Amino acid sequence: MKLVDSIQRMATLSKMVRKEGKTIGFVPTMGYLHDGHMSLVKAAKKHTDFVVMSIFVNPIQFGPSEDFEKYPRDLKRDEELARAAGVDVIFYPSAKDMYPPGYSTYINVERLTDRLCGASRSGHFRGVTTVVAKLFNIVRPDVAYFGQKDAQQAIVIKKMVQDLNMDVEIKVMPIVRESDGLAMSSRNVYLSEDERKSALSIYEALRKAEGMVASGEIDSKKIIRAIKDVISQKASIKIDYVSIVDTKELEDLPEIKSEALIAVAAYVGKTRLIDNVIVRLSPKILPDSEKKPGVRR
Ligand code: AMP
Repeated sequence: MKLVDSIQRMATLSKMVRKEGKTIGFVPTMGYLHDGHMSLVKAAKKHTDFVVMSIFVNPIQFGPSEDFEKYPRDLKRDEELARAAGVDVIFYPSAKDMYPPGYSTYINVERLTDRLCGASRSGHFRGVTTVVAKLFNIVRPDVAYFGQKDAQQAIVIKKMVQDLNMDVEIKVMPIVRESDGLAMSSRNVYLSEDERKSALSIYEALRKAEGMVASGEIDSKKIIRAIKDVISQKASIKIDYVSIVDTKELEDLPEIKSEALIAVAAYVGKTRLIDNVIVRLSPKILPDSEKKPGVRR
Protein backbone atom coordinates (compact mmCIF):
# COMPACT_ATOMS: atom_id res chain seq x y z
CA MET A 1 0.00 0.00 0.00
CA LYS A 2 1.26 3.44 -0.94
CA LEU A 3 0.86 6.57 1.19
CA VAL A 4 0.61 9.67 -0.94
CA ASP A 5 0.34 13.21 0.37
CA SER A 6 1.15 15.09 -2.83
CA ILE A 7 -1.74 16.05 -5.11
CA GLN A 8 0.52 15.90 -8.14
CA ARG A 9 1.83 12.43 -7.28
CA MET A 10 -1.69 11.12 -6.69
CA ALA A 11 -2.87 12.47 -10.04
CA THR A 12 0.12 10.92 -11.84
CA LEU A 13 -0.37 7.59 -10.11
CA SER A 14 -4.05 7.50 -11.09
CA LYS A 15 -3.14 8.29 -14.69
CA MET A 16 -0.69 5.38 -14.75
CA VAL A 17 -3.24 2.98 -13.24
CA ARG A 18 -5.84 3.98 -15.82
CA LYS A 19 -3.29 3.59 -18.62
CA GLU A 20 -2.79 0.00 -17.51
CA GLY A 21 -6.50 -0.48 -18.17
CA LYS A 22 -7.39 -0.84 -14.51
CA THR A 23 -10.54 0.62 -12.96
CA ILE A 24 -10.18 2.84 -9.91
CA GLY A 25 -12.51 2.58 -6.93
CA PHE A 26 -12.45 5.57 -4.59
CA VAL A 27 -13.45 5.80 -0.92
CA PRO A 28 -13.33 9.39 0.39
CA THR A 29 -13.14 9.61 4.21
CA MET A 30 -12.13 11.88 7.04
CA GLY A 31 -10.25 9.00 8.64
CA TYR A 32 -10.48 7.50 12.12
CA LEU A 33 -11.66 4.42 10.30
CA HIS A 34 -14.33 2.01 11.46
CA ASP A 35 -16.25 -0.88 9.90
CA GLY A 36 -18.57 1.55 8.09
CA HIS A 37 -15.60 2.88 6.12
CA MET A 38 -14.27 -0.63 5.63
CA SER A 39 -17.56 -1.79 4.09
CA LEU A 40 -17.00 0.80 1.37
CA VAL A 41 -13.48 -0.52 0.82
CA LYS A 42 -14.83 -4.06 0.58
CA ALA A 43 -17.31 -3.02 -2.10
CA ALA A 44 -14.60 -1.10 -3.97
CA LYS A 45 -12.25 -4.11 -3.87
CA LYS A 46 -14.98 -6.38 -5.17
CA HIS A 47 -15.93 -4.25 -8.15
CA THR A 48 -12.81 -2.29 -9.14
CA ASP A 49 -9.14 -3.12 -9.74
CA PHE A 50 -7.38 -0.44 -7.74
CA VAL A 51 -8.67 1.11 -4.51
CA VAL A 52 -7.80 4.64 -3.41
CA MET A 53 -8.91 5.88 -0.03
CA SER A 54 -8.59 9.54 0.83
CA ILE A 55 -8.18 10.68 4.40
CA PHE A 56 -8.76 14.39 4.72
CA VAL A 57 -10.48 16.28 7.50
CA ASN A 58 -11.89 18.95 5.27
CA PRO A 59 -11.82 22.30 7.07
CA ILE A 60 -14.32 24.01 4.78
CA GLN A 61 -17.18 21.65 5.64
CA PHE A 62 -17.03 22.55 9.36
CA GLY A 63 -18.78 25.60 10.77
CA PRO A 64 -16.86 27.96 13.08
CA SER A 65 -18.41 26.44 16.22
CA GLU A 66 -18.07 22.84 15.05
CA ASP A 67 -15.52 20.15 15.89
CA PHE A 68 -12.85 20.59 13.18
CA GLU A 69 -10.02 20.98 15.72
CA LYS A 70 -10.99 18.08 17.91
CA TYR A 71 -12.17 15.71 15.14
CA PRO A 72 -10.43 12.37 15.92
CA ARG A 73 -7.30 11.72 13.86
CA ASP A 74 -4.95 8.73 13.92
CA LEU A 75 -3.16 8.15 10.64
CA LYS A 76 -1.04 5.26 12.00
CA ARG A 77 -4.11 3.31 13.06
CA ASP A 78 -5.92 4.14 9.81
CA GLU A 79 -2.90 3.02 7.83
CA GLU A 80 -2.91 -0.40 9.50
CA LEU A 81 -6.65 -0.89 8.96
CA ALA A 82 -6.47 0.22 5.34
CA ARG A 83 -3.49 -2.01 4.61
CA ALA A 84 -5.22 -5.02 6.18
CA ALA A 85 -8.32 -4.32 4.07
CA GLY A 86 -6.28 -4.26 0.86
CA VAL A 87 -6.43 -0.55 0.04
CA ASP A 88 -3.87 0.24 -2.68
CA VAL A 89 -3.29 3.91 -1.90
CA ILE A 90 -4.07 6.21 0.98
CA PHE A 91 -4.20 9.77 -0.30
CA TYR A 92 -3.90 12.29 2.53
CA PRO A 93 -3.34 15.78 1.19
CA SER A 94 -2.75 18.75 3.49
CA ALA A 95 -5.29 21.53 3.88
CA LYS A 96 -2.77 24.08 2.62
CA ASP A 97 -2.28 22.14 -0.61
CA MET A 98 -6.01 21.63 -1.11
CA TYR A 99 -6.84 25.26 -0.32
CA PRO A 100 -3.74 27.38 -0.99
CA PRO A 101 -3.85 31.13 -0.33
CA GLY A 102 -6.17 32.75 -2.87
CA TYR A 103 -8.30 29.63 -3.29
CA SER A 104 -11.67 30.85 -4.60
CA THR A 105 -13.75 28.14 -6.29
CA TYR A 106 -16.66 26.42 -4.58
CA ILE A 107 -19.44 24.12 -5.71
CA ASN A 108 -22.95 24.60 -4.41
CA VAL A 109 -25.78 22.18 -5.10
CA GLU A 110 -28.89 24.27 -4.58
CA ARG A 111 -32.18 23.35 -2.88
CA LEU A 112 -31.14 19.86 -1.76
CA THR A 113 -28.64 21.44 0.62
CA ASP A 114 -30.92 23.92 2.36
CA ARG A 115 -32.88 21.27 4.26
CA LEU A 116 -32.23 18.53 6.85
CA CYS A 117 -28.56 18.85 7.92
CA GLY A 118 -28.13 21.85 5.60
CA ALA A 119 -30.61 23.88 7.65
CA SER A 120 -28.50 23.67 10.81
CA ARG A 121 -25.03 23.36 9.24
CA SER A 122 -24.80 26.37 6.96
CA GLY A 123 -22.09 25.94 4.32
CA HIS A 124 -21.48 22.30 5.22
CA PHE A 125 -22.55 20.79 1.92
CA ARG A 126 -20.78 23.50 -0.07
CA GLY A 127 -17.61 22.30 1.66
CA VAL A 128 -18.43 18.66 0.99
CA THR A 129 -19.23 19.05 -2.71
CA THR A 130 -16.20 21.25 -3.25
CA VAL A 131 -13.78 18.78 -1.68
CA VAL A 132 -15.38 15.76 -3.36
CA ALA A 133 -15.19 17.46 -6.77
CA LYS A 134 -11.52 18.29 -6.16
CA LEU A 135 -10.80 14.73 -5.03
CA PHE A 136 -12.59 13.33 -8.10
CA ASN A 137 -10.44 15.54 -10.34
CA ILE A 138 -7.25 14.38 -8.65
CA VAL A 139 -8.06 10.66 -8.27
CA ARG A 140 -10.16 10.27 -11.44
CA PRO A 141 -12.10 7.28 -10.09
CA ASP A 142 -14.39 5.09 -12.17
CA VAL A 143 -16.57 4.37 -9.15
CA ALA A 144 -16.79 6.28 -5.85
CA TYR A 145 -18.31 4.74 -2.72
CA PHE A 146 -20.38 6.59 -0.12
CA GLY A 147 -22.38 5.47 2.90
CA GLN A 148 -26.13 5.61 3.37
CA LYS A 149 -25.28 6.81 6.89
CA ASP A 150 -24.86 10.29 5.36
CA ALA A 151 -27.96 9.93 3.21
CA GLN A 152 -28.28 13.60 2.29
CA GLN A 153 -24.59 13.80 1.39
CA ALA A 154 -24.95 10.85 -0.99
CA ILE A 155 -27.98 12.40 -2.67
CA VAL A 156 -26.27 15.79 -2.99
CA ILE A 157 -23.16 14.20 -4.51
CA LYS A 158 -25.21 12.19 -6.99
CA LYS A 159 -26.89 15.44 -8.01
CA MET A 160 -23.56 17.23 -8.42
CA VAL A 161 -22.22 14.39 -10.57
CA GLN A 162 -25.34 14.44 -12.73
CA ASP A 163 -25.54 18.23 -13.05
CA LEU A 164 -21.84 18.69 -13.82
CA ASN A 165 -21.60 15.65 -16.13
CA MET A 166 -18.84 14.13 -14.03
CA ASP A 167 -17.61 10.82 -15.39
CA VAL A 168 -17.86 8.76 -12.21
CA GLU A 169 -20.35 6.23 -10.93
CA ILE A 170 -21.64 6.80 -7.39
CA LYS A 171 -22.42 3.74 -5.26
CA VAL A 172 -24.18 4.09 -1.93
CA MET A 173 -23.65 1.31 0.61
CA PRO A 174 -25.85 0.36 3.58
CA ILE A 175 -25.32 1.70 7.11
CA VAL A 176 -23.01 -0.43 9.25
CA ARG A 177 -24.08 -0.56 12.89
CA GLU A 178 -22.60 -1.66 16.20
CA SER A 179 -24.07 -4.94 17.50
CA ASP A 180 -26.61 -2.97 19.58
CA GLY A 181 -27.75 -0.93 16.57
CA LEU A 182 -25.88 2.36 17.01
CA ALA A 183 -24.75 3.59 13.59
CA MET A 184 -20.96 3.53 13.41
CA SER A 185 -19.40 6.98 13.32
CA SER A 186 -15.96 8.41 14.01
CA ARG A 187 -17.75 10.85 16.33
CA ASN A 188 -18.98 8.03 18.60
CA VAL A 189 -15.65 8.30 20.46
CA TYR A 190 -16.85 11.62 21.88
CA LEU A 191 -19.67 9.87 23.77
CA SER A 192 -19.43 9.14 27.49
CA GLU A 193 -20.70 5.75 28.65
CA ASP A 194 -24.08 7.24 29.59
CA GLU A 195 -24.35 9.22 26.36
CA ARG A 196 -23.50 6.09 24.39
CA LYS A 197 -26.50 4.35 26.05
CA SER A 198 -28.81 7.30 25.40
CA ALA A 199 -27.67 7.49 21.77
CA LEU A 200 -29.19 4.06 21.18
CA SER A 201 -32.65 5.60 21.43
CA ILE A 202 -32.10 7.20 18.01
CA TYR A 203 -32.01 3.82 16.30
CA GLU A 204 -34.74 2.46 18.59
CA ALA A 205 -36.96 5.33 17.44
CA LEU A 206 -36.16 4.64 13.79
CA ARG A 207 -36.96 0.94 14.29
CA LYS A 208 -40.25 1.93 15.84
CA ALA A 209 -40.98 4.09 12.80
CA GLU A 210 -40.16 1.18 10.50
CA GLY A 211 -42.56 -0.98 12.48
CA MET A 212 -45.31 1.62 12.21
CA VAL A 213 -44.89 1.81 8.44
CA ALA A 214 -44.81 -1.99 8.18
CA SER A 215 -48.14 -2.16 9.98
CA GLY A 216 -49.76 0.37 7.70
CA GLU A 217 -49.13 3.83 9.18
CA ILE A 218 -48.46 6.34 6.39
CA ASP A 219 -49.13 9.62 8.21
CA SER A 220 -45.72 11.26 8.57
CA LYS A 221 -46.85 13.53 11.42
CA LYS A 222 -47.79 10.54 13.56
CA ILE A 223 -44.56 8.73 12.76
CA ILE A 224 -42.46 11.82 13.51
CA ARG A 225 -44.34 12.29 16.80
CA ALA A 226 -43.59 8.67 17.76
CA ILE A 227 -39.88 9.08 16.93
CA LYS A 228 -39.66 12.28 18.97
CA ASP A 229 -41.45 10.62 21.90
CA VAL A 230 -38.90 7.79 22.04
CA ILE A 231 -35.87 10.07 21.75
CA SER A 232 -37.14 12.75 24.15
CA GLN A 233 -37.27 10.20 26.94
CA LYS A 234 -33.51 10.65 27.18
CA ALA A 235 -32.73 13.90 28.95
CA SER A 236 -29.24 14.17 27.44
CA ILE A 237 -30.54 14.23 23.84
CA LYS A 238 -31.67 17.34 22.02
CA ILE A 239 -33.32 16.68 18.68
CA ASP A 240 -32.13 18.80 15.75
CA TYR A 241 -34.63 17.41 13.26
CA VAL A 242 -36.78 14.41 12.49
CA SER A 243 -37.84 14.41 8.84
CA ILE A 244 -39.66 12.14 6.45
CA VAL A 245 -38.72 13.05 2.90
CA ASP A 246 -38.58 11.60 -0.59
CA THR A 247 -35.25 10.08 -1.60
CA LYS A 248 -34.61 12.28 -4.66
CA GLU A 249 -35.52 15.87 -3.84
CA LEU A 250 -35.59 15.51 -0.05
CA GLU A 251 -39.01 17.21 0.05
CA ASP A 252 -41.15 16.66 3.14
CA LEU A 253 -43.72 13.92 2.58
CA PRO A 254 -46.98 14.44 4.49
CA GLU A 255 -47.79 10.81 3.68
CA ILE A 256 -45.55 7.89 2.82
CA LYS A 257 -46.72 6.73 -0.57
CA SER A 258 -43.93 4.47 -1.77
CA GLU A 259 -40.34 5.08 -0.68
CA ALA A 260 -39.28 7.50 2.04
CA LEU A 261 -36.17 8.50 3.92
CA ILE A 262 -36.74 8.88 7.65
CA ALA A 263 -33.83 10.91 8.95
CA VAL A 264 -32.86 12.07 12.42
CA ALA A 265 -30.16 14.41 13.68
CA ALA A 266 -29.72 14.90 17.40
CA TYR A 267 -27.22 16.24 19.89
CA VAL A 268 -26.24 13.66 22.47
CA GLY A 269 -24.58 15.92 24.99
CA LYS A 270 -22.41 18.03 22.69
CA THR A 271 -22.06 15.37 19.99
CA ARG A 272 -24.22 15.70 16.90
CA LEU A 273 -25.24 12.30 15.56
CA ILE A 274 -27.25 11.42 12.47
CA ASP A 275 -29.04 8.24 11.49
CA ASN A 276 -31.73 7.19 9.05
CA VAL A 277 -33.75 4.38 7.56
CA ILE A 278 -35.35 4.05 4.15
CA VAL A 279 -38.85 2.59 4.22
CA ARG A 280 -40.78 1.17 1.30
CA LEU A 281 -44.48 0.45 1.41
CA SER A 282 -45.34 -3.16 0.79
CA PRO A 283 -47.79 -3.61 -2.10
CA LYS A 284 -50.76 -4.50 0.10
CA ILE A 285 -50.73 -1.10 1.81
CA LEU A 286 -49.67 0.88 -1.22
CA PRO A 287 -52.44 3.29 -2.29
CA ASP A 288 -54.10 2.01 -5.51
CA SER A 289 -52.62 4.86 -7.57
CA GLU A 290 -49.08 3.71 -6.68
CA LYS A 291 -49.57 0.03 -7.49
CA LYS A 292 -47.87 -1.19 -10.61
CA PRO A 293 -48.82 -4.60 -11.94
CA GLY A 294 -45.88 -6.95 -12.09
CA VAL A 295 -43.62 -4.78 -9.94
CA ARG A 296 -42.50 -6.35 -6.69
CA ARG A 297 -41.43 -4.10 -3.85
P1 AMP B 1 -16.57 10.15 7.12
O1 AMP B 1 -15.16 9.71 7.36
O2 AMP B 1 -17.41 10.16 8.36
O3 AMP B 1 -16.64 11.43 6.33
O4 AMP B 1 -17.22 9.05 6.21
C1 AMP B 1 -16.64 8.63 5.01
C2 AMP B 1 -17.62 7.76 4.26
O5 AMP B 1 -17.97 6.64 5.07
C3 AMP B 1 -18.94 8.49 3.94
O6 AMP B 1 -19.37 8.12 2.64
C4 AMP B 1 -19.87 7.98 5.00
O7 AMP B 1 -21.23 8.01 4.62
C5 AMP B 1 -19.38 6.56 5.16
N1 AMP B 1 -19.78 6.03 6.46
C6 AMP B 1 -19.60 6.62 7.67
N2 AMP B 1 -20.17 5.88 8.64
C7 AMP B 1 -20.74 4.82 8.04
C8 AMP B 1 -21.49 3.69 8.50
N3 AMP B 1 -21.77 3.52 9.78
N4 AMP B 1 -21.92 2.79 7.60
C9 AMP B 1 -21.64 2.96 6.27
N5 AMP B 1 -20.95 3.99 5.76
C10 AMP B 1 -20.50 4.91 6.64
